[in-house]
Amino acid sequence: MKLTWQPFELELKHPFTIAKFSRTSTPLMLVNLAHEGYVGYGEASMVPYMGESHETAAAFLTMVDVNQFKFPFDFAAIISYLDSIAPGNPAIKAAIDIALHDLEGKLLNKPCWQLSGSNLALMPLTSYTIGMDAPEIFRKKVQEAVGFKVIKVKLGRDSDKELINIIRSVTNVPVYVDANQGWTDPRKSLDMIYWLQEQGVVLIEQPMLKTDIDNNAWLTQHSPIPIIGDESIQRLPDVEKAKGVYHGINVKLMKSAGMYEAHQMILKARELGLKILMGCMSETSCASLAAAALAPLCDWADIDGPFLTTNNPYKMPAFANGKYMLSNEPGLGLML
Ligand code: MG
Repeated sequence: MKLTWQPFELELKHPFTIAKFSRTSTPLMLVNLAHEGYVGYGEASMVPYMGESHETAAAFLTMVDVNQFKFPFDFAAIISYLDSIAPGNPAIKAAIDIALHDLEGKLLNKPCWQLSGSNLALMPLTSYTIGMDAPEIFRKKVQEAVGFKVIKVKLGRDSDKELINIIRSVTNVPVYVDANQGWTDPRKSLDMIYWLQEQGVVLIEQPMLKTDIDNNAWLTQHSPIPIIGDESIQRLPDVEKAKGVYHGINVKLMKSAGMYEAHQMILKARELGLKILMGCMSETSCASLAAAALAPLCDWADIDGPFLTTNNPYKMPAFANGKYMLSNEPGLGLML
């Protein structure tokens, strides 16, 4: 087996502004695993606040011994091995895990979604995320979202109501709200949630600081719509901590260290009665198709990465009626 990689800078359609910061591109590491004439494709998306970079990813990859990967792949053992190299680094671990899943599908001649036990009839709609912006630019972004059946909006500043009103002046589709820890007062947040519900908002992500467990739990107890933990929930051991604090969790491959552990998180969340949103970072078709393979096991999907970028190095994923249309191609179904 041969492991190669290539740093890549994924350019965003619009500067991406959320409650805490703004950026115009995201560093990726594109990872290939070649074996017996097949190539598995993987990807790390390293959003700056997670602490990974081209440098940390390359340093990690040079420590990976591909002789550890023997087909059929034991993904539990593989993630333990990757964790034994160094803690943290979830995105570059995800890149290896995704490449191995793609390779596994190709070696077995089966699509990843089928190997994950997904039923394509249950594929949820994918939301289209709109970052904060000046009203006129924000309105333009909402108008660009035609083709998506759900809009996700980043709130958490003083202009929250204004942005929702702009959405409603353009479209009636359901809205997901992501406050990205931007709200501080639980009672004001609850008033806001009731107002948002009247505007057709159906879920709220990470309303308050991830460390503010009591107030997030209080909001969850009182909110008329689901409260979803995102920044609070990274890997499998975090799922249990979500019980009683959130109605559900946002699973992202770049947090969970890949598809194997994301699947374990989904199973654990189901066992605990938690709802699941399959999310993503700024990603190409590669990691997005990996997330879409697991999305039918979840309640909601927010896998809009490739639609928010301008230099996706792969073919865009097949998408219709607001949903990913996964193919029967072996592996991820990624088209070069
Ligand atoms: Mg979020």
